[in-house]
Amino acid sequence: MKHDDEAACCGGGGEPAPGMSRRTMLRATALGAGAMTVGGVLLPSAASAAPAIYNPFGAYPITDTWEGHLSRGSLGGIDFGMGVGTALPACGAGTIQNIPYNGTGGHTVTIHHADGYRSQYMHLSQFLLGNGASVGAGAIVGRSGGAAGADGSGSSTGPHLHWHMINPAGTRISPLVYIGQNPGGGSRQVYEAASNNAWRALPISGSAGAVTGSAIAPILLGTTKIVYSLNGGRIYEAASNAGWQNLWTGVQGAQGTALAAVNLNGVKLIYNVVDGYVHEAASNNAWRNLNTGIGGASSSSISVIQLGGVKYVYSIVGGYVHEAHSANAWRNLSTGIPASAVAAITVGTTKIIYTVNGGSVYEAASNAGWRNLWTGISGVSGSTLAAMNVGGVKHIYTSAGGFVHEAASNNAWRNLNSGVGGSAVAALTLGGVKLIYAS
Ligand SMILES: [Zn+2]
Repeated sequence: MKHDDEAACCGGGGEPAPGMSRRTMLRATALGAGAMTVGGVLLPSAASAAPAIYNPFGAYPITDTWEGHLSRGSLGGIDFGMGVGTALPACGAGTIQNIPYNGTGGHTVTIHHADGYRSQYMHLSQFLLGNGASVGAGAIVGRSGGAAGADGSGSSTGPHLHWHMINPAGTRISPLVYIGQNPGGGSRQVYEAASNNAWRALPISGSAGAVTGSAIAPILLGTTKIVYSLNGGRIYEAASNAGWQNLWTGVQGAQGTALAAVNLNGVKLIYNVVDGYVHEAASNNAWRNLNTGIGGASSSSISVIQLGGVKYVYSIVGGYVHEAHSANAWRNLSTGIPASAVAAITVGTTKIIYTVNGGSVYEAASNAGWRNLWTGISGVSGSTLAAMNVGGVKHIYTSAGGFVHEAASNNAWRNLNSGVGGSAVAALTLGGVKLIYAS
């Protein structure tokens, strides 16, 4: 796809230092920034690692490679052939900056990631978010364009998406090379740590290779541990009794890090967020992904519990926790509790939700009119939160400084570093042993 975007790029002019290749610079950045070792296992650190990026366009043909761009004088990019109007998911979390009529690049959306990295999508036909909007991976940031002469196409001569990244030094880099060099992308390894092994974090993998994912939702089916993870908008299932073989469920379209699962009378249920709506997929309907009609949900956090056979879904809508349940046709009601993340448990017949608001964890219970109380746990990063009931003791798991922390209601919620590295966290209990999952 011939086009000329080099003049359009903001921040594309940087050159590598003399004697140092672009690739060497990138590698140095990746390794120096945040790899850490826990129990002899190399883990990515959420706090300081290069940002997690995945390729949302793997299903589209590459119509012009990175090298192809360079050979015709472009500063670099990868073109993916797709029809005008195709939804463009964010390749990673960040903040949106729209640049209309960005020279030959046309309508350009920039995603400002962590640590000074940026991604740019060019030749858009439509912007969908405002400047400054905060997005999670997979959130739709605009629609593709590129038809010759169309508004916003710039110099493009046919429908396609142009994607490049820019590193903190201002140099364009290939997203696919970046993803290959940084284990923090959509291919993050999933780890399991158990309280009876001093929380040693062990990678779970099987005959089909490593279990990977950017969000984790574990359930128990009898004594079999089942882990659901998100990878590139697809949901995978791995089970402990199958050697943790990682299998695609066929459920796709999931966005961000919102993923939850529950076992309801032997039926495995998965909840995810697609275009702001909560979807449900069930193992007894061949994992067909169905819209529950619960709208406005953030793609960053979702939680599900079952109580007396009724499924309760908690999601973040407009910054507040909403509750919907299957017995009321999924009518979505605000609890009035502000939050950026939610985790739910049951204690007897009482529903309890834990939330993150401004870096602190709060607890609210359905039998107290959802009164929101600060637990005293602060310093929590991101949208990472998990909770479980272990023999009547409420446990909370959070992430801070790249490590999973545990707090329990019987220790006055003292927040303790488990020593387990990772940024996503989920928990379950089996036979009195507490299990943490992180990636
Ligand atoms: Zn291009």
